[in-house]
Amino acid sequence: MPANKKRPVTLRPFKAPRYAFDKLRRCRHCGQYTALGGERCIKCGRASLIPVEKDAAHITRNRMQTRILLIVLLTLASVYFGQNLQQMLLCGAGGLVLALLLFWMQRRVRANENLAALNELLGKNIGLVLEGLEADRQEAVSVLRENDVLAYEKLREIAVLLRGDRISRQRVALLHGFQLRKDMDLELEQLLLKDFEPLLAEYIGEIAKIQPELIKDRTLRYVKAHESEILAMEDGLAIMTGVAGAAVRMKRYALLYSAMIGRYIAVLPKDRFLRLSKLIAASPHEPWNGLDAKVAEIRESQYRWDPDV
Ligand SMILES: [Zn+2]
Repeated sequence: MPANKKRPVTLRPFKAPRYAFDKLRRCRHCGQYTALGGERCIKCGRASLIPVEKDAAHITRNRMQTRILLIVLLTLASVYFGQNLQQMLLCGAGGLVLALLLFWMQRRVRANENLAALNELLGKNIGLVLEGLEADRQEAVSVLRENDVLAYEKLREIAVLLRGDRISRQRVALLHGFQLRKDMDLELEQLLLKDFEPLLAEYIGEIAKIQPELIKDRTLRYVKAHESEILAMEDGLAIMTGVAGAAVRMKRYALLYSAMIGRYIAVLPKDRFLRLSKLIAASPHEPWNGLDAKVAEIRESQYRWDPDV
């Protein structure tokens, strides 16, 4: 699709949460899990969604209370069976100290216990969670025709938890219709597929232009693996050149992908060529794998009279 056919859209800001399950909620009414941000449960329609962390915290609190209660009961029993006042006082005081100590210790490990409880909970209910996410995905697909931006935003929320080619493919296809801009919250590594997909390659080319900092190891590996397929595309050369230009922003990538970058060095824009020249000049003894010689050659043939180079 030519760039002018793409629609300008506004995507809501999106930051991937720290933990994948941060967005997961459970309906208190029907037990449905969801990763979508809406207020109401998509199954029963009630506004009774609670974060799974709350469920986990509840379990932890119950466990902690049970332990304290056990100590208190043991203390009371020991006081009851004490043979004289001194023994009873000692037992009571010992039990109190123990209970306080346990209380203090439990407070310190609470965050860890919460996490463990959550792990356990999700492990036990993984089938239900996956069912919920699949229902979320179908919900996103169902709004696709009337509102593709909303569908994309929904899929983006679900994708935090539900990985896989199917959801990535759908997101890439939707992104294909949008005019992408620098200020959008876009992703790349999360969208990479196992196989070659022209729409994805085109998206990578767009990202190389507007947010090259998103081009990292996994993308470079994908592009390297599918280089010949990309070059067979109409804009293939531009995509490859854009990716090579994005790769030279870091020395590590320039070293790792030196052969691939070398194939596009003659068509790199001047600022990217300068960047690569500087990288090599700063570390002339790294194993550039012939890239340094190519840079020298291009400098001689294309930039001989250029005062910047
Ligand atoms: Zn429900």
